[in-house]
Amino acid sequence: MKEYDVAIIGAGSAGSTARREVHKKTKNYCVIDNGILGTTCARVGCMPSKVFIQAANDFKRREKLKEQGINGGESLTLDTVQLMKHVRKLRDRFVRAVMSGVDTWASEHLIRKKASFIDDHTLDLGDEKIKAKSIIIANGSRPVLPENFKAVEKYCVTTDEFFEMDDLPKSIAVIGIGVIGIELGQALSNLGIETLILGRRKIIAGMTDPEINMYVANKFEEQMNICFSDCQNVEEVDGKVKLTLPHDVFTAEKILMVAGRESNIDNLNLENTSVKLNPSGLPEFSKETFLAEGTKHIFFAGDVTGEKAILHEAADEGRIAGYNSVRLDKMQGFKTRVPLAITFSDPNLAIVGKGYRDLENSDIDFAVGQVSFEGQGRSIVKLKEIGMLRLYGEKKTGKILGAEIFAPEGEHLAHLISWVIEMDLTVNQMLSLPYYHPVVEEGLRTAVRELKEKCHEEAPPLEIYPI
Ligand SMILES: Cc1cc2nc3c(=O)[nH]c(=O)nc-3n(C[C@H](O)[C@H](O)[C@H](O)COP(=O)(O)OP(=O)(O)OC[C@H]3O[C@@H](n4cnc5c(N)ncnc54)[C@H](O)[C@@H]3O)c2cc1C
Repeated sequence: MKEYDVAIIGAGSAGSTARREVHKKTKNYCVIDNGILGTTCARVGCMPSKVFIQAANDFKRREKLKEQGINGGESLTLDTVQLMKHVRKLRDRFVRAVMSGVDTWASEHLIRKKASFIDDHTLDLGDEKIKAKSIIIANGSRPVLPENFKAVEKYCVTTDEFFEMDDLPKSIAVIGIGVIGIELGQALSNLGIETLILGRRKIIAGMTDPEINMYVANKFEEQMNICFSDCQNVEEVDGKVKLTLPHDVFTAEKILMVAGRESNIDNLNLENTSVKLNPSGLPEFSKETFLAEGTKHIFFAGDVTGEKAILHEAADEGRIAGYNSVRLDKMQGFKTRVPLAITFSDPNLAIVGKGYRDLENSDIDFAVGQVSFEGQGRSIVKLKEIGMLRLYGEKKTGKILGAEIFAPEGEHLAHLISWVIEMDLTVNQMLSLPYYHPVVEEGLRTAVRELKEKCHEEAPPLEIYPI
């Protein structure tokens, strides 16, 4: 039986970054993957979805052109077949970039088989068994199909199939208002497809600040057909699907099922190992070393943990697991970066650092500074006068703790705030930084100023510090 120093299960983003660290210390390792290579992110996730959203935002923009004196916008039409070709063309480019990395791996390092555990150190690869001193589990997640939609499964597409469609349907029900449901649901709606976006609870893309969540829900209800209720019945009628809602009925050619993703942890026979699972069947592991509890050599990284399905987090986890997998006798814990989660809706939604619910559930005495982007200079210029940002700081020290954002250029504001938190800055230090004019960051400054008034940190006489 072949014996490796490290076996990595999954050649996705987490597995690939783990491999990079392992490769620095040993050449006696393997990466095992039985699926389509190219990563979830590049093939069916982050990248094709952003290409699709970009086109939808560009098309939607035509509605604003007339007031700027640009005529003809209303006669612009959409070639949905070309749009889907465009999505796949750029998708293929991103996948090629990933594969150009994989192609440099020596062939003995990549095993194209499904892995499951026989015991703590032995993996069953179907027609062979292998042993490894360390094992990194980075085998990702998959879309969920809820039980009540199984009867109409043939009408359902998940994000695994969506970007493969040659053309878009004329009507679609988007099930789920998490990050992916909001991103793709709004994009479909902006493209003029008859769209119903359905979420059971009025919580948009996981936002936890009730003020922001309510504002976003109201704005989205004005912009698109979004419904917050259970689907009471779903059935096939004349080659379409009919969804019965409490006060409405929606008939669609297709359903985009984005009701969440579940960990692939259940395809590994982990019951044959010492790995400890929590009551939800997800792994217990250290968030500093990524070592599985109950073991001294098995690590978890990426979506399989069932925690944050976020690309840069999956990559970090892979990197840390890879680093430690070749240093079992002197494992190192690593800091996690400031949490940063972005929804690429228009405008963007984001949660940075500690969200409102985190703070409410903590004993931190915090204050909130708020800004509306309705009436904000740069947002007026951009014809994007919509949004709200709430910034949280510690009352006593003025330390910036987090923010929830629904704002034009929110993806960039979120980064700025996360960097400020990472650098441990306070409201007054944040105010002393430069703000160009006119930019959306001036809106952020309004929130910082409001927050400053509620914090007890001693402020410089002006917003800038004396020499
Ligand atoms: C539509 C969509 C949009 C997204 N947008 C964003 C975004 O904008 N920003 C962001 O940060 N994140 C986004 N994400 C999330 C991000 O893509 C994931 O967090 C990330 O790709 C997870 O990487 P991973 O390595 O854990 O899993 P994967 O890349 O899925 O890799 C897992 C690999 O394991 C293999 N595997 C599974 N079981 C076995 C087994 N038993 N044996 C061998 N191999 C196995 C699979 O074939 C697969 O190749 C998005 C996701 C989706 C679906």
